[in-house]
Amino acid sequence: MTRTVYVNGHYLPEHEATVSIFDRGFLMADGVYEVTSVLDGKLIDFDGHCVRLGRSLSELDMTNPHTDAEWLAIFREVVARNSIVDGMIYLQVTRGNPGDRDFAYPPADLPPTVVLFSQNKPGLADSPAAKTGWKVISVPDMRWGRRDIKTTQLLYPSMAKMMAKAAHVDDSWFVEDGMVTEGTSNNAYIVKGNRIITRALSHDILHGITRAAVLRFASEAQMEVEERNFSIAEAQDADEAFITSASAFVMPVVEIDGKAIGTGAVGKTVPRLREIYLDEMRKAAI
Ligand code: PMP
Repeated sequence: MTRTVYVNGHYLPEHEATVSIFDRGFLMADGVYEVTSVLDGKLIDFDGHCVRLGRSLSELDMTNPHTDAEWLAIFREVVARNSIVDGMIYLQVTRGNPGDRDFAYPPADLPPTVVLFSQNKPGLADSPAAKTGWKVISVPDMRWGRRDIKTTQLLYPSMAKMMAKAAHVDDSWFVEDGMVTEGTSNNAYIVKGNRIITRALSHDILHGITRAAVLRFASEAQMEVEERNFSIAEAQDADEAFITSASAFVMPVVEIDGKAIGTGAVGKTVPRLREIYLDEMRKAAI
């Protein structure tokens, strides 16, 4: 099916949608993005994604081209025009097309390029992988130092995904100074007894929207949350491990670098967190 995408105020069939070759998103990865899930035709944690979009833009001295209400209307239109029941909406905002290529930012009044598109994923929340868990490998974190900004500069995460594929596993966990930062496109956690351990927020990791919700639900469910660094060795020795992201939700991790975590099967805590997360977020979806 031909998708209807959004480009700078227009809803177009995907093959008619164009962006300039001088766009700074294309030339310099000078842009930010957001990925928001849709379940039962409704947006999951839209407000969280809107807040992070605003923060990413402001950290790069870009003006937010829309109010939250305008964004919501555009998102809903993309969902409706593509009849998305379960899937994802991708939003990209770049610094636009200044004409001549130049490292310096163009004047702030240059209109940004705004693109939204959908990916249809029927049964997104019923992923069979949630029953068996992911296997991951560790790789050095060689990304830039402002990972808290959700930029479209995704080459190293792509390389790390390819390393995972080559190793016949599901993903890679990044390691810096001996400590896990996060996954290629997700936040990383371990579980020890009743305690969930995950790296604290800083410039080192993306401030996951799913992370914020899951940590809130974990506290409400009387689990302890400890925000601190952990190593691969500590993770391999944990009771359970998992990742979170807007598209994978809460996904168990059962093996790291060939070593089984706990029994090597999906434990009890992570599926419970996944269920709470999905239940609560479906209720709050808009
Ligand atoms: N870390 C990285 C590097 C990511 O790319 C993502 C997903 N975009 C996440 C964490 C998870 O963030 P969220 O829960 O907002 O999808």
